[in-house]
Amino acid sequence: MKGVYILRIFLDRDKRIRIGSLDTIDFKKGLYAYVGSAMGGLEQRIGRHLRKNKKMHWHIDYLLGKAEIIKVLVRETNSKSEECTAAAELKKSGGAPVYGFGCSDCKCKSHLFYFKSLSMMKIDNYRLLKL
Ligand SMILES: [Zn+2]
Repeated sequence: MKGVYILRIFLDRDKRIRIGSLDTIDFKKGLYAYVGSAMGGLEQRIGRHLRKNKKMHWHIDYLLGKAEIIKVLVRETNSKSEECTAAAELKKSGGAPVYGFGCSDCKCKSHLFYFKSLSMMKIDNYRLLKL
């Protein structure tokens, strides 16, 4: 399966986390949504995100070392640009971008968004993946 995924993430308290090449970021306690894509092996990629012990590679790996994935949403597609479309939608729905996060290979300002409440976190055309 190829596609785009959104991780809903919960951070249980304010934390300062070192995010590899981005240096340290002060994260507020609460809900985050992260958008990524896997153009070969969506299930494997999500499985990797859910695993705790792994070599740090992406920005998200550092955050997930300190936070929990609570839900995974997926959309099957061959188009990697859907990833950036989803990022734009999350921002529009009220997500506060964590600048520079997860967007090293595109022109977005971020692929990680902080949300004050779950009800704000709206995205169409994605389905919930059973974990
Ligand atoms: Zn992007």
